[in-house]
Amino acid sequence: MDIKEHIRSIPDFPKPGINFYDISTLLRHPDAWQVTMGRLAKVVGGWRPDVLAGIESRGFLTAAPLALKLGCGFVMVRKRNKLPGATVRYDYDLEYGSDSIEIQADAVEPGQRVVVLDDLLATGGTANAAVQLFRKVGAEVVGVAAIVELNFLHGRDRLDVPVATLASYD
Ligand code: 5GP
Repeated sequence: MDIKEHIRSIPDFPKPGINFYDISTLLRHPDAWQVTMGRLAKVVGGWRPDVLAGIESRGFLTAAPLALKLGCGFVMVRKRNKLPGATVRYDYDLEYGSDSIEIQADAVEPGQRVVVLDDLLATGGTANAAVQLFRKVGAEVVGVAAIVELNFLHGRDRLDVPVATLASYD
């Protein structure tokens, strides 16, 4: 099964000149979604994670069912001020300005093996920020995985952990 047959690209979203890869069509196709989760489970399971971390918001859709399948915990990585209780934040630079992501302070134990999940890897800035955030709290990040990779943005070059994706675009 070619996962790409279930991913569509939408021109000029969210702004002119950007070609947005939309996984909604993959999510709404039960067989294709099963295959996607099965393929991710093989590679991510091989990294023997304790915890899967999903990056808001489409990373939740990727990480939560996979965590259930692999028998791992699931942790939310969210934009700032969305999580209740004590949180740990990581600030990172964007092309214009900066952004922050957070996890709950007790989300992982030091030494736990974490895999960071998102729907798509573009520049790698978001995934790298999540990796740094988990390191800040003493976790061991053992990989980053996504369904889609935009090769021309070289996101994996920014990451110093193993990276796995299922469908890539040049
Ligand atoms: P990066 O930080 O790697 O440049 O961007 C990746 C983040 O932006 C991910 O959280 C991803 O969900 C979102 N993103 C950027 N471009 C696209 C796209 O074309 N399609 C989808 N589905 N998400 C995108």
